[in-house]
Amino acid sequence: MSATALDSQVRKLVKGDRCDSCGAEAFVQATMPSGYELLFCGHHFTKNEDVLTAQGATVTIDERHTINAKPSVSANTD
Ligand SMILES: [Zn+2]
Repeated sequence: MSATALDSQVRKLVKGDRCDSCGAEAFVQATMPSGYELLFCGHHFTKNEDVLTAQGATVTIDERHTINAKPSVSANTD
């Protein structure tokens, strides 16, 4: 993966970062024009993306490409 200008400035999301809508692990951080930061799981970011864009939000972290790369805790339980 190529480096971007943001790499050295932006923290990466960790397991403790939770979706503001449902509490699932967050994979996207969006920053509103006011500077307020919102965290979303992949599902809720997709659901809210149009509204966020319309309101001028900037996606500051997008780690959705890692969603299927991480082992899921629930995947191995029956
Ligand atoms: Zn969510």
